[in-house]
Amino acid sequence: MLKKVLIANRGEIALRILRACRELGIKTVAVHSTADRDLKHVRLADESVCIGPPRSIDSYLNIPAIISAAEVTNADAIHPGYGFLSENADFAERVESSGFIFIGPRAETIRLMGDKISAKDAMLAAGVPCVPGSEGGTPEDPDEILKMGERIGYPLIVKATGGGGGRGMRVVHAPDELVHAVTMTRAEAKAAFGNDVVFMEKFLQHPRHIELQVLADSYGNAIHLCERDCSMQRRNQKVVEEAPAPGITPEERARIGESVAEACRRIGYRGAGTFEFLYEDGEFYFIEMNTRLQVEHPVTELITGVDLVKQQLLIASGEKLALKQADIKPHGHAIECRINAEDPTNFTPSPGRITRYHAPGGLGVRVDSHIYADYSVPPYYDSMIGKLIVHGEDRETAINRMHGALSEMVVEGIKTNIPLQTRIMEDPAFRAGGADIHYLEKMLGMKK
Ligand code: ADP
Repeated sequence: MLKKVLIANRGEIALRILRACRELGIKTVAVHSTADRDLKHVRLADESVCIGPPRSIDSYLNIPAIISAAEVTNADAIHPGYGFLSENADFAERVESSGFIFIGPRAETIRLMGDKISAKDAMLAAGVPCVPGSEGGTPEDPDEILKMGERIGYPLIVKATGGGGGRGMRVVHAPDELVHAVTMTRAEAKAAFGNDVVFMEKFLQHPRHIELQVLADSYGNAIHLCERDCSMQRRNQKVVEEAPAPGITPEERARIGESVAEACRRIGYRGAGTFEFLYEDGEFYFIEMNTRLQVEHPVTELITGVDLVKQQLLIASGEKLALKQADIKPHGHAIECRINAEDPTNFTPSPGRITRYHAPGGLGVRVDSHIYADYSVPPYYDSMIGKLIVHGEDRETAINRMHGALSEMVVEGIKTNIPLQTRIMEDPAFRAGGADIHYLEKMLGMKK
């Protein structure tokens, strides 16, 4: 078993990882920027090391500083959390070549899945359904590009293979826009990602976002832990997540779940991961894999009873997956609301001191958050200050429970999106289930 884990992250996820380590008797090292000395997990960790000034580039993205912190504290593994360096293959490689265990997949796997074309090829080979489109990159010759566009049909989307975070994509509605769109996306991708390879695929007009959680060990065992529906998004950012996805039948779940577990075995996946799909007219279409723990992992934990972070730690310790597919039986319904320090009407960030804080509670209510009364939310990082997660025997109970929990939650001194989350819980289309990825922006009047 691992003895000491360095947590290369901040905020709620650092605290989440610390809690799992403590339960397994693993010592923890917190690393933090000068702006984060007062983070809850920094106070609770066995040791802490300041790794640089506030800007992420100087601290949480500072690879040499993180590696030296692991060296001076004699840690044996590094957990990257999500965001920051979690999907950086060079970081994973540096961690391992410096003699530490990277809590995540092998660097080659991160690289394979971080490139959209190679990821799609690997998925097609494993029998995972993908969005139909150009297999491989787009040709140089304008006539060839147009022929390919005709074969795929319109509307289509041009994507940079090295893209991420919703950047490097362009929707094309008619042939006369295509060649220009390919040229523009190539140029932008070259500037942003240093890679100008682009590809095309069919643009789905009313999809839902449904993703599958997986766990795999180092011995070729892999299972899926059902799906989550994360269709409530604003500017490609998830706002509410739930599990299971409304309307997905056990047969559909078993079919797509088995295909992603098989993909894990084929690519030699290790650890926790997520396969993201667009879902339209009863069909799943793979879009990307996240080779790390996700923000929304708690909804899966609540319906399956599996502690995903402990599983990551056990797998990194070299243990065999003790869970079998038949052990995974989803129970009830779980919903997560991301709580952000932001203005609920115009979404501008609202950092500052929290003057008063009351957490909600009761049966089936979980709060994953690092905030406390008197804590100051720094202006340098993501605005998420925590997650409110509920579990109920069915979806309606879970929604009503979330509505009540939101009304109990008091965060004063800064603005939060609690009023927006309350509005979503009251919204008839959300309550009906199965809204598509454009619905929230329509509800907010951002889209027709
Ligand atoms: P990134 O790596 O930048 O997050 P993704 O491939 O995951 O890129 O796509 C991000 C978002 O773009 C998706 O969640 C979806 O909203 C939209 N999108 C991507 N591909 C398609 C497609 N083929 N049809 C419709 N929307 C798409």
